[in-house]
Amino acid sequence: MNRILTLLIGVIVLFSCENVKESTDKTSISDTSSEKIDETQPNFGIVIHGGAGTILKENMTDSLEKAYTMKLEEAIRIGHEILKNGGTAMEAVTKTITIMEDSPLFNAGKGAVFTHEETNELDASVMDGATLNAGAVAGVTHIKNPIDLALEVMNNSPHVLLAGKGAETFASERGFKMMHPSYFYTENRFQSLQNVKQKESNSVSSSVSDSNTSAYDPYLKNSKFGTVGCAALDKNGNLAAGTSTGGMTNKRWNRIGDAPIIGAGTYANNATCAVSSTGWGEYFIRAMVAHDISAMMEYKGVSLEEAAVEVIQTKVPDLGGNGGIVAIDKDGNVSMEFNTAGMYRAHMNAEGKLVIGIYKENFDTFNNKIGDNEQP
Ligand code: ASP
Repeated sequence: MNRILTLLIGVIVLFSCENVKESTDKTSISDTSSEKIDETQPNFGIVIHGGAGTILKENMTDSLEKAYTMKLEEAIRIGHEILKNGGTAMEAVTKTITIMEDSPLFNAGKGAVFTHEETNELDASVMDGATLNAGAVAGVTHIKNPIDLALEVMNNSPHVLLAGKGAETFASERGFKMMHPSYFYTENRFQSLQNVKQKESNSVSSSVSDSNTSAYDPYLKNSKFGTVGCAALDKNGNLAAGTSTGGMTNKRWNRIGDAPIIGAGTYANNATCAVSSTGWGEYFIRAMVAHDISAMMEYKGVSLEEAAVEVIQTKVPDLGGNGGIVAIDKDGNVSMEFNTAGMYRAHMNAEGKLVIGIYKENFDTFNNKIGDNEQP
């Protein structure tokens, strides 16, 4: 009897050591915590991004790094809790995104970048993988949480995408509070605009224009895309995705990026996956990034990871674009793929294991070569 007991204890100890090792190995920069695994429970999971771009360890202070990781953790834990308690993927996605929209750290809601005219124009979208319903808003200037308005468009209008004044009239009619535009002002975003304008005027005076090169090209090569996004799988097997952004610094002429474009910035389909993008929107629209990942899974039968690698590491860079995605498939597999130096990102699975990352190892900035990505 004693022998059997000792053997049993030995097996349990060995098993828990394996689990701890797995958690630690897979953590990219931050902590993980594991709750007890209960295989009788349905699977669920959540993944978020806070933008991709030239995010380098050497340019980051410890306190800023901490601020980002803390906010990512706060946001994802809120979404995870909703899922854990049986909430829908859409509730988790929208609630998680509002936390990031309210933080000046990210280019969405408070903290949005400035347009050429020194205003803030916000874009957002959501998609429900169960129904293929979607809602989006573009170029709104008075809405604190554009992701909530995108959801409202989906749930309470006959349309998918509303823009500008019309979107705000709809918002007022639906009882949304109008914020004074000064709410969106942050000093560092304003300074970024001044820097970009400065670079733009230097480059305009020293280069011949080329039809394929936008006026803000010199900046874009080194930019940070601070868009926020989330994709989630709930306990009922439903997927949802959402994306919210201030767009790109110095944008003009009511430029709209990929974030509110269903299929480019956001896509969700219960048959495949849910995806949220961040990056140089013009290329993400042309590559139909989020839908292409889903379509590759659906038509070619490839895994989420294979599809994401193909789109982000080959198709988008071949066009000349850069950025990344976060995605989750119907089985809870996650991808956090990017071709930039870094992407603010986090993932939490049903077991409560948390993975947070910012940088990509082996990114060779000098040769602009892309190294191994860290996967959850
Ligand atoms: N994709 C966004 C846009 O082009 C920018 C970003 O991801 O930060 O508007």
